[in-house]
Amino acid sequence: MYNILIAKYGEIGVKGKNRYIFENKLIRNIKNMLKSVGEFNVYKEYGRIYIDVDDSNYETAIEEVRKVFGVVGVCPAIKREKDYELLKETALFLLKNKIEAGNKTFKIASKRGDKSFHLTSQEMSIDIGGYVLTGINAMEEEMYTSAKVDVKNPDVVITCEYRNEHILVYADSVSGFGGLPLGTNGKAMTLLSGGIDSPVASWLVAKRGVDIEAVHFHSYPFTNERSQEKVRELAKILSKYCGPIKLHMVNILDIQKAIAEKCNEEESTILSRRFMMRIAQEIGKKRYCDALITGESIGQVASQTMQGINCTNAVVEIPVFRPLIAMDKVDIIKTAEEIGTYETSIIPEADCCALFSPKKPVTKPRLERLEKSESKLDVEELVKSAIENSTMEVIEF
Ligand code: ATP
Ligand code: MG
Repeated sequence: MYNILIAKYGEIGVKGKNRYIFENKLIRNIKNMLKSVGEFNVYKEYGRIYIDVDDSNYETAIEEVRKVFGVVGVCPAIKREKDYELLKETALFLLKNKIEAGNKTFKIASKRGDKSFHLTSQEMSIDIGGYVLTGINAMEEEMYTSAKVDVKNPDVVITCEYRNEHILVYADSVSGFGGLPLGTNGKAMTLLSGGIDSPVASWLVAKRGVDIEAVHFHSYPFTNERSQEKVRELAKILSKYCGPIKLHMVNILDIQKAIAEKCNEEESTILSRRFMMRIAQEIGKKRYCDALITGESIGQVASQTMQGINCTNAVVEIPVFRPLIAMDKVDIIKTAEEIGTYETSIIPEADCCALFSPKKPVTKPRLERLEKSESKLDVEELVKSAIENSTMEVIEF
């Protein structure tokens, strides 16, 4: 019954003169997202984005389109040639269908896209409402005749549009994630661990239209191949939303060994974090990233106290985005489940941080102390060597 999807977008509608750039990006991103499920015609008409579908593919298409950043909702609709009588008949057809699906009260909402049409939107609603009511009242089954109009709190709203180019009738809207089209807000380097938090943090920033590259730190052969595989899998899930992701793999075993050898055990986590930030920033700069992303959240673990965060932050000069900073773990998990990373994140694999992790980590590290500890290390050389030995791979869905 449905032959078209309407992709509704939010914020990009207010971008003034740049609006078409955002719309075109959005169309391209929708096309890309749909590639995995088939060939679709995606196009713009009078400030709307449409996707042609049929009964066989509209549900899978909705599932994909709703994942595109910038899309706030997707409506499966019936499109017919521009004819007001046909609009009324189609409204009745869809209403009957919705009553069969269990809806008991309804309302007709109308939009007059064609301003030359003799009825206003409100007059259209009254007229179409009368038509469909007569239609269902004339039917035999009680299911139809008992359906009632309820303008305040209807079970279903049948929207009827009389547009310049055609008519549209629809009732449902599947919500999207919102945000801004990918590729409209620069690029950031995300520190991607195998945990629950950093994939969510990466996704949240990407949702604002930011392209992302990722860096992962491991301690191979102390951490195994599988823990790297897990991160690849997480990057793959993210790439569904973000497009192909360049994943930099950095071995920090030598750094961890140097820290273990020369510094206080209780500072080891925070010191290795500082190295991660330095390395991420260096690789990020080379890759034209203007910010870093981490999954830190105030107070979540010993290294994420206010003082801990200040100390890791002190080694970088580009901005660090921490979208989870004020989020509770339960809410982070909820998002992880929604975007599909949770199941992979909870697979138990050794993380490089677990290695050499202190029994009693400092919770209120002091910058001067850390700097003093680091003065025993050749920080520059350790960073340089880790970057030289890093690898880059492209992860695609
Ligand atoms: P996550 O669930 O993201 O691993 P976490 O709660 O375990 O976070 P930490 O281990 O303190 O927190 O790490 C804080 C942040 O530092 C992570 O969210 C991530 O951005 C970064 N990070 C930690 N370990 C790694 C790693 N091995 N590779 C890349 N980034 C890392
Ligand atoms: Mg972690």
